Parts: sequence; structure tokens; C-alpha cells
Amino acid sequence: MKKITIAIDGYSSTGKSTVAKRLAKHLGYLYVDTGAMYRAIALFALENGLISKTHCNQKELIEKLPEITLYFQLNSETGIADMFLNGKNVEKRIRSLEVSQYVSRIAEISEVRKKLVEQQHKIGKQKGVVMDGRDIGTVVFPQAELKIFLNAAPEERARRRFKEYIDNGAEVTFEEILKNVMERDRIDTTRLDSPLVKAKDAIELDNTFTNKEDFFQKVLQLTKDRISGHL
Ligand code: C5P
Repeated sequence: MKKITIAIDGYSSTGKSTVAKRLAKHLGYLYVDTGAMYRAIALFALENGLISKTHCNQKELIEKLPEITLYFQLNSETGIADMFLNGKNVEKRIRSLEVSQYVSRIAEISEVRKKLVEQQHKIGKQKGVVMDGRDIGTVVFPQAELKIFLNAAPEERARRRFKEYIDNGAEVTFEEILKNVMERDRIDTTRLDSPLVKAKDAIELDNTFTNKEDFFQKVLQLTKDRISGHL
């Protein structure tokens, strides 16, 4: 069967990675979570004291970018690729609320984006890839055969993310999560370099009222239609 590139973009916590992972598994495609890459750089900046609530030492971070090595490695227990930062598995740490609170400020920096987009091009240059993020259909793979742009009501997105944190034993409040989701949307849509915007040829889907299974089936159908040339 013909292999294609699938770009899944959208607002924070819209379930992009859930649907992208499942789709990649179903099709035998490579799944690439580009958010994990930005999160790993944010973790690096936090660990090196380069970002705080009031300040970001962009100059030093940019100077240190060549020292940062990122790669994905398959975790045989979960079947999903974990993010490694300079040889250390940071998969768990990059998902913390603290990293979520800083990542969008790191993702505004053009030099950071340039480094990560270059790596994303290399990882995804063969067809047969599902990549999720904010700029995949617009900047990373503008020629992707299928582009999906996801949205859902902010309260619903925050509710889902809050449940995930609580299920993992994190101590967070719903208000903190809602604030983070909205703040990331604000920064991601208004930044100068590669803002979050729907590509002209992307299919926009809202999953506020759709359960995971129905939503997956819908995306799978769109994929099949695109591969067979019916869409
Ligand atoms: O996808 P996830 O929510 O993990 O992404 C975390 C953050 O990384 C986003 O809020 C955004 O600031 C940044 N990001 C980006 N471009 C991408 C993927 C993520 O700017 N392609």
C-alpha cells in the first residue's frame, strides 16, 4: 500500500498524540511526538537555570544548543518511543506541569525551532510517518498528503489533561491545568516564528463531544480515503 506523511497539528491537549500514536501503530508507521522535543529543551533550560518565571536567558541557551542531543528510543515495555536528552531518559520528567509551564516560551525561540525542524526533517524523510505538533502541516512537512488540525473546548481539554495528571498521582488543580492550556494556546498562536495556525489544506476536526474510539475511527477513515485517493 502507498505510504504517506500524516501531519497532526492543533491546540494543546486536544488528544493529538493519542490519535497519532494509535494511527501509526495501526498503519505500521513511525510516530514522532515533536512536542516531546520542545519539552526536552525546556527541561534542559530549567536544569541549567536558563529560564525562570520572570526571565529567559535566550543568548546562553542558543549558545548551548550544539551541546544538546535529542533522540527517541523505543521502550519495549510500553511499545512507545521515549525521549532521551543527552543520553538520559527524560520521558517522565518532560510531562510535568513545570515543563508545560515553560515550554511555549522556549518554543518561541527561532534557533530552537531551526534545530528541531532540521531533526524532524531527517526523522520523517521517508514516507510512512505520523508526526504531531503545532507546525507540521505548515512548516515541517507542508507537502504532507494528509493534514489534520485538532481543536476542542478549552475546559474539556483541561478536564482530560487534569484526569491524566491525577491518575498519575500528580498534585495539581484543575484551575492550574486550565490556565496552562490557555496560556500555551495564547503563546503558540501569537509567536512570530511558525505560529500555530491551520494549514489551508488541513482538515479541521473538533473532538469536544467525541469519544476516543469514534474519533480514532474518523481519523482512520480519512487516512484510508486519502491513501486510496478517494479524498
Ligand atoms: O505537543 P505538546 O503539548 O507536548 O507540546 C508542548 C509545546 O511545545 C507546545 O505548547 C508548543 O509550545 C511547543 N511545540 C511547538 N511546535 C511543535 C510541537 C510543540 O511549538 N511542533
